[in-house]
Amino acid sequence: MPHDVHGSETRPCQIQILVGQASLVHVHDRKELLDSYRVRASSIAGFFSCPAQWAHNNLGGERLPSTPPAVIGSAVHASTAEFDRSRLDKNKARWLTADDTAEILIQYIQDPGEEVDWTGSNIEKAATIALGVHTRYCHEVAPTHTYQHVEETMDNLAIQWDEMDIEIVLTGTLDRSYIRDGQTGIADLKTGAVACSQNTGKHKAQLGAYELLAEQKLGIIIQQPGELIQLQTSSNYKVAVQPVHNARIALLGDDYNTGMLTHIARALKSGDFWGNPSSWLCSEKYCGAWNNCIYR
Ligand code: SF4
Repeated sequence: MPHDVHGSETRPCQIQILVGQASLVHVHDRKELLDSYRVRASSIAGFFSCPAQWAHNNLGGERLPSTPPAVIGSAVHASTAEFDRSRLDKNKARWLTADDTAEILIQYIQDPGEEVDWTGSNIEKAATIALGVHTRYCHEVAPTHTYQHVEETMDNLAIQWDEMDIEIVLTGTLDRSYIRDGQTGIADLKTGAVACSQNTGKHKAQLGAYELLAEQKLGIIIQQPGELIQLQTSSNYKVAVQPVHNARIALLGDDYNTGMLTHIARALKSGDFWGNPSSWLCSEKYCGAWNNCIYR
């Protein structure tokens, strides 16, 4: 049985290929491995920020309250998804406007459904920022894209490392798939105070995971590069769209380089999660492992 706390059913991949040291296994060839862990695609970058914090957050450690930036991000995801989803309908008369969908955003911020530490901000400030980001996205980013899927929960995908007798079951929710020049690509929305100046490499493996999950669940072939849609919550709500090439190689590696997921598998197998006090999330406010951490 999988070891973590996220609890949904495992559904192995329907294909068999070898990439680097990892093996995506056919449902009939899947071995019952001793160690099986669920890993959310969106958590992968966090492992490389601080493995000890990642282990705390993903292997059953006590969770901290959410933060204003996280609530703003989730609210913008919810409202823009509704805006884009309405545009999957060929009948333009049923398309929702930025104003129509702003209501979803306000409702989310007023009731995020989880505990929030509002220190340094408040609901009104967060709503103003989220509304600015939402409006900019609807008017400037959405019209430049033709989406095929919007906010879709993916089926779980099993990836096995035979020599370590370990399996990682990838899970995740796809933000968007887009069509350009007749080919499909994956897009992911990122919000944050410095979203537009972030290195795209930070999210490369996450996009690689979504590519694999989308090909399995949706039966599509990803040919366009991944895309990061960066939505800044400061500086007049700047936006940027950045391509991310070779995302799944970063995730799974190649003949010469170890993929990021293999590094996670090795840490899971050994139980050796080192701390990184240089992480920008290394603070009492953001790290649930703070009180018991020897590395800070
Ligand atoms: S306190 Fe710092 S070093 Fe320790 S687990 Fe948290 S982020 Fe990592």
